[in-house]
Amino acid sequence: MAVGSVHVDCQEYRAAIAGRKPSALDFGEKAMSRYPPALQRFEDNYTPEPNSGCWLWMACDNGAGYGLLQINGRQILAHRFAYETFIGPIPRDKQLDHLCRVRCCVNPLHLEAVTRKENILRGECPQAKNARKTHCHVGHPLSGNNLHVLPDGSRRCRECNRRTSLRYRKRSGATIRAPYFKEPEQ
Ligand SMILES: [Zn+2]
Ligand SMILES: [Zn+2]
Repeated sequence: MAVGSVHVDCQEYRAAIAGRKPSALDFGEKAMSRYPPALQRFEDNYTPEPNSGCWLWMACDNGAGYGLLQINGRQILAHRFAYETFIGPIPRDKQLDHLCRVRCCVNPLHLEAVTRKENILRGECPQAKNARKTHCHVGHPLSGNNLHVLPDGSRRCRECNRRTSLRYRKRSGATIRAPYFKEPEQ
């Protein structure tokens, strides 16, 4: 993307972000005319990956794998910059989710603004993995009649629970059912 030679009013820019954490929005649409080096630096720091379409951030990251863009001595998240520059403001109650699961990707088309809850469920933590499972650990479908959802939202396999109950009853002669066991984490 070509960046025209626009007058940069650093004074105005500094005043705009004075006293608060800078947001990529500060460097969004308006800033593009006011502060073109930001966009230029952004353009200079990623490499398009031809197969996935990811824009891989080549500059520094924040330690968790997310790209950082430095503007006037401050660091902002590069993917947030990309989203707000090319797509629009990120709603206050939303976070950006990498649909491609590549944290250092700054392709705005690979980003979606989602709620914190959605973001966690799409992630890689055990709860998220469990929520995405379509089958239990021995291969019964976690759907239809076989799926039992506990009040806390966790999902259990009825067939496995039935078998556990049977074993439990055989062994102890008890008539009560075994409590729902926990699916092992992957
Ligand atoms: Zn990507
Ligand atoms: Zn099962």
